[in-house]
Amino acid sequence: AVPLVVAINTSTAAQNGMLIRDRIAMEEARNLDTVMFDKTGTLTKGEQGVVGIETVEGYDEQRALAIAAGVEGDSEHMIARAIRTAASEREVERVSVSTFENLRGLGVRATVAPEMVPASTRPSNSSSNPSKGETIHLGGPNLLDRLGVERPHSIVAFADEAGKNAQTVIYLVHEESSVVAAFALADVIRAESRQAIDALHAMGIEVAMLTGDSEDVARAVAEELGIDQYFAEVLPDEKDTTVAQLQSEGKLVAMVGDGVNDAPALARADVGIAIGSGTDVAIESGDIVLVDNDPRDVVRLVRLSAASYRKMQ
Ligand code: ADP
Ligand code: MG
Repeated sequence: AVPLVVAINTSTAAQNGMLIRDRIAMEEARNLDTVMFDKTGTLTKGEQGVVGIETVEGYDEQRALAIAAGVEGDSEHMIARAIRTAASEREVERVSVSTFENLRGLGVRATVAPEMVPASTRPSNSSSNPSKGETIHLGGPNLLDRLGVERPHSIVAFADEAGKNAQTVIYLVHEESSVVAAFALADVIRAESRQAIDALHAMGIEVAMLTGDSEDVARAVAEELGIDQYFAEVLPDEKDTTVAQLQSEGKLVAMVGDGVNDAPALARADVGIAIGSGTDVAIESGDIVLVDNDPRDVVRLVRLSAASYRKMQ
């Protein structure tokens, strides 16, 4: 009888938009205590757009965008796409860069020709060799902490306002010493997320959220969606540790995610649920794949698990 039930279960699952890669995880889903969601690309659409730019003296929006879009290079990150799109919409030409480097979970770093950077912000006692170019960093608050860079007052005010509106702020840093511009990016919460979370609560399941994004944005999204617990500014290699932390409290945990950064957490979770439109690495690390990218399918999955495995007992 077992193979028959499992077969029915699998095809019903397929009809409900889920692909089961690990049957044991599917069976465990009926006993879940906590569902942890990744924020960007999972609870939100992950289609970010630049909605505001603040610059220091010597810079204007065009210059800041030209440098930022150049520094993002060909990065596939949503933030990189948003910045390149903003530049091309304003017909700003990207500066060319050398020595591009991706700083996982923090941002990016590249070298830009000296003539592309306004002289006013160039440190007068700069030890860098001008012929080698200027070092530019682009990234969130984690990056500023890492570099030990302070923000000028105008940028702090801009970031506070953006944070209140659940916008993500990305900073442009010149020579590891000064923040010369900030970009506010807005993302849209999926309409289905609220319904999914309400339904999980009704089943007695706790909902948590995990993100590399700032505390401000995480709090705003968590409040908006009625999420019980959130973890913000989590670095990529800490995502699975956060899942482990909940497990050590004796909880059976599902993780729902889409990104490369989510893969270890998906693998660590008792039930790893990958978003179908996510990266290949996430999908390969998931026990179950949500084909339609709909967070409500997590609810269907728990119901299906309960219904199917009751039959087997
Ligand atoms: P999430 O967990 O929300 O999916 P990530 O772990 O991918 O986010 O990124 C964490 C943070 O690192 C972002 O919120 C952003 O501040 C910064 N970051 C990552 N990649 C980039 C990039 N290409 N350009 C600018 N900032 C970036
Ligand atoms: Mg993500």
